[in-house]
Amino acid sequence: MAYINDNYQKLPGSYLFSEIAKRIKTYQTQNPAAKIIRLGIGDVTQPLPKVCIDAMKHAVDEMGDVKTFRGYGPEQGYEFLREKIADYNYKQRGINVEADEIFISDGSKCDCGNIQEIFGLNNKIAIADPVYPVYLDTNVMAGRTGDLQADGHFEGVVYLPCTAENNFAPAIPNEHVDMIYLCSPNNPTGTTISKSDLKRWVDYAKANDAIILYDAAYAAYITEDDVPRSIYEVEGARDCAIEFRSFSKTAGFTGTRCGYVVIPRELTGKNKNGDDVPLKNLWLRRQTTKFNGTAYIVQRGAEAIYSEDGQNQVHGLVNYYMENAKIIRDGLKDIGLTAYGGVNAPYIWLQTPKDMPSWTFFDKLLNEANVVGTPGAGFGPCGEGYFRLTAFGDRSNTIEAMERIKMQLQL
Ligand SMILES: *Cc1c(COP(=O)(O)O)cnc(C)c1O
Repeated sequence: MAYINDNYQKLPGSYLFSEIAKRIKTYQTQNPAAKIIRLGIGDVTQPLPKVCIDAMKHAVDEMGDVKTFRGYGPEQGYEFLREKIADYNYKQRGINVEADEIFISDGSKCDCGNIQEIFGLNNKIAIADPVYPVYLDTNVMAGRTGDLQADGHFEGVVYLPCTAENNFAPAIPNEHVDMIYLCSPNNPTGTTISKSDLKRWVDYAKANDAIILYDAAYAAYITEDDVPRSIYEVEGARDCAIEFRSFSKTAGFTGTRCGYVVIPRELTGKNKNGDDVPLKNLWLRRQTTKFNGTAYIVQRGAEAIYSEDGQNQVHGLVNYYMENAKIIRDGLKDIGLTAYGGVNAPYIWLQTPKDMPSWTFFDKLLNEANVVGTPGAGFGPCGEGYFRLTAFGDRSNTIEAMERIKMQLQL
């Protein structure tokens, strides 16, 4: 008899995107002429920067020549890439992160999901709500939570509500927790955590011997100067924080796959004897056992963004999406809807009119404007009453979607 990991059955089915697809299909069948525009996607649409393509083509040629061919690479990632990341994303911004504290991966979803393996099952976790579902679901799978309750919360998890009432700033819990998941800029709300709030989190984490797991997948989208790009901009964060970054949204690598984790040398957790154990060593052990690195070709492609041309091309890509974000934000404002985000992130988080449930608003938008977005309830209990639109579409579709929303949505 092979028994299953029962924790998996605590998870509700991946209802959100299948339910969206189902409703679109039904509508399209009944209205075959309707041209539906999707502003719900959390995936980029524009091609890779030319520097990346050139670098990857060159790397392909290297792989085809016995003199330059490469097999397994270092598990932590090639040094050429780790050095460039440390330089461009940290040192040039006055942040102390060294190349040997960076671990290259095939994307941030795996990192955000796998990191919990190096922590004990008895740790209490705190998670922003609404947020990227990976943090919660991977902790449920691991058995770090109880069952899903009728109110939509998992037993044993401390939820950190992020709503308009608290300006989307997760409040410090008034109880002890051991692991804290923060995402800034946040998916789905598009909002950020200020440096002073982040300092409060760092102080809390140090006082509680807790670890902050900080997802900065959208750092490249931050336009306001005083918003931290990295948690390590905050004093003391090296003692209590792990940071996740990805090339997916920065450089269009969602299908190409490259991300990284930063684990500072001095960051430790306690073993059962109460001794401090460096988390970096545990993660290296985990990766060398379960991961064999992301492709050399891909790492060369990622490296290419760290040059003058590369930075310009990446900024061009980000600016393209952020111009879409502005079109969406302005359009919603014109018709009197309240919306957040879209300034430091490619996500616009709108408050549904008249406290409409987010799935009702989904149907309304689909029926009246033939535009698809994502109901906020899919990102956590506190997402109810909100709706996510994304700036990842192409320009003409974004413009047309907003025209239709203005002309056809009956508010
Ligand atoms: C897209 C995204 C990631 C990155 O995922 P990849 O696996 O690197 O493509 C990480 N965190 C959040 C919140 C995201 O939205």
